[in-house]
This record gives sequence, C-alpha cells and structure tokens, in this order.
Amino acid sequence: MYETERQELIKVLIGKGITDENVLKAFFRVERHLFVPEIIKPHAYSDVALPIGHEQTISQPYTVAFMTQALELDERCKILEIGTGSGFQAAILVDMGMKVYSIERNYEIHQRTQKLFDDLGIRAALIYGDGTIGWEEAAPYDRIIVTAGGPEVPKRLLKQLAVGGKMVIPVGDRNSQTMQIITKISETELLKKEIPNFKFVPLIGKEGWKNE
Ligand code: SAM
Repeated sequence: MYETERQELIKVLIGKGITDENVLKAFFRVERHLFVPEIIKPHAYSDVALPIGHEQTISQPYTVAFMTQALELDERCKILEIGTGSGFQAAILVDMGMKVYSIERNYEIHQRTQKLFDDLGIRAALIYGDGTIGWEEAAPYDRIIVTAGGPEVPKRLLKQLAVGGKMVIPVGDRNSQTMQIITKISETELLKKEIPNFKFVPLIGKEGWKNE
C-alpha cells in the first residue's frame, strides 16, 4: 500500500539533500503509515511531523532521514535511541541491520509500540524509562540518537557512548533546537558539529527538562 506515495516522499528527501542510499532504501521498505493512527494514515507520506497521541509526534521524515544519515552507520552498530515514540525511527534502524535499544518515558506509548513491533516482527529492545540516564546495562553504544529536545547533552549518555562512536541530539530551548552531531574521539575529547533550526517535543527527565 501507498507505494507511489513512498516513492514521492523519497524524491522529496533526495531534493532536501539526503544522499545515503541505505537510508533511502530503508525509507522505501519501512511503511510509515503503519506507525501512525488510523485517521491520519492518508497523510503518512507527507514530509511533516504527525500527532501520535499523548501530545507526542512521529518526527518529520526529513528529520528522521537527516539524523539517520548523520549517524554514519557501519554494519551492525549497537544503537541507543531515546524517545521510541511511534517506533518509526527504530524500525528504520532495524531495517538497516542495526542492533537497537530504544527507551520511552510514556508507558502507554511504550506498550503500544511494543505491541506494534511484536505484530510486525520487528526485533528491537524497547525499554520503558527515563532515557536521559541511558541504559547502562547494554552500554557502550556505537551510536546514540535522541529524538526529543533537551536543554543540554546528558552526561550519562556521553559516558555510555563508545570511544569512536557518534551521538546525534537536538539541544536548545523548548521552541527551537540545534542538532548536535558529536563524535567521541577519546574519553575526554569530543568533536562537535551543529546544525540550527530543528523543533522537537521536550526531552523530559533527570538530565532533561524537569516538567511537561
Ligand atoms: N523516534 C520517534 C518516532 O520515530 O516516532 C519520535 C518520537 S517523539 C518526537 C519523542 C518521544 O520522546 C516522545 O514519545 C516522548 O514521550 C519521548 N521522551 C521524552 N523525554 C523522554 C525521556 N527522558 N526518555 C525517553 N523518552 C522520552
């Protein structure tokens, strides 16, 4: 279903600068309409964020593609995602052959996405909890992707990132964030690239915003 719409979306992503063939292929294989509520399925292939309930969103396809490309994935990276939400970003990463751990702080969203993954046979470790403290049990991670906007980079996430690994995270105030692409050169040295003008729902938690 929606194959033409998916192809059109991929053209839009290419037009906006997505060049990674593996990312574009994953966008063709992972059907975004399966990750949104029934009533908005006809809009699933528009390049916009859409509501998924509980005041949360499935990110704009361009943003998902941009962040995935920025991760510069190698084969079978171990990835930690903060903010499972609809599960679309995690599904893209699983489709690309990655080993994915994803944390969601909203219990109902976590449960709903776990059921969806079970139904679709998507294999990822979905965890309920505060992602700003990471998931120490499975650390270190080759990549960390944060899909909600926080006031700063959580220190514990930096600690759980492997040396040589990359983290992509939007940081700023509640209305606008800069995408930080961080490479962990050594335990004490980080390389940072910043791209402005992103807008995410807030990252709420111990090392994020303190309230809704
Ligand atoms: N990756 C998601 C997708 O593909 O649909 C986008 C999710 S939405 C933009 C951000 C999600 O982050 C929301 O579901 C929200 O509940 C969650 N969130 C916010 N703060 C969090 C935290 N500290 N730990 C885990 N999840 C958090």
